[in-house]
Amino acid sequence: MPQNGIHAMVGIASRKWMPKKEWLLLGVVLGNMFPDLDNLVVAYATLAKLPNPEHFHRTFTHSIFTIIAMVLLFYIIAALTKNEKWKNFGIGFGAGIIMHILVDLVLWFNGVHLLWPLGGELNFWSWFVTPAWLKILLDTGEFLAFGLYFLMLGSLALRYGTDAERQVSSKTWAYIEFVLFALFTVLFFTVGTKGLLYQVFGGLYLLSLIVSIVITIRMKQTVETI
Ligand SMILES: [Zn+2]
Repeated sequence: MPQNGIHAMVGIASRKWMPKKEWLLLGVVLGNMFPDLDNLVVAYATLAKLPNPEHFHRTFTHSIFTIIAMVLLFYIIAALTKNEKWKNFGIGFGAGIIMHILVDLVLWFNGVHLLWPLGGELNFWSWFVTPAWLKILLDTGEFLAFGLYFLMLGSLALRYGTDAERQVSSKTWAYIEFVLFALFTVLFFTVGTKGLLYQVFGGLYLLSLIVSIVITIRMKQTVETI
């Protein structure tokens, strides 16, 4: 599980290869982040005490069919609103999900259900047993990666003179993420990763993911300019 902030940064880094079209790169970045929203369903399943809640991760949002459905959805929105930008957004969004899946497959110890719901997991890492210490760092590293992504957005905004009124808040959120990273790394190594503490971690992760999507949308001037 590459951290979501890494997915977002990969989206930003892909700008060199993307044609300059309105809302396209915004779609790419959000498409890179979108698949991990399945963790909201994992959280719901956990709270509802459904069996094997983690089995919802890397399934329906990581599927080829979802990519097709999302691109079609934004085509329909473009037609209904007579706004061509939604078409660009949808193409970018689909490309972003593809990039997310590729990064997931290559990096870090898990498989992807590429053809969900048809079944079959593609996993280059099935031979690998994740040691407990690494699992902790992969988890708390989510906060670190979000923080780095927020710093990246803030410094791009500074360089291009965009989103002036958002630069401070993106930096503030970056520091909040760094504090969470340090705090939970210490707690997980000392107290452990069980029970309420892990649920609090999960809640803060989901909050960070949503904040990250909101900040990306609010700083779309920066994303569109770079
Ligand atoms: Zn993923």
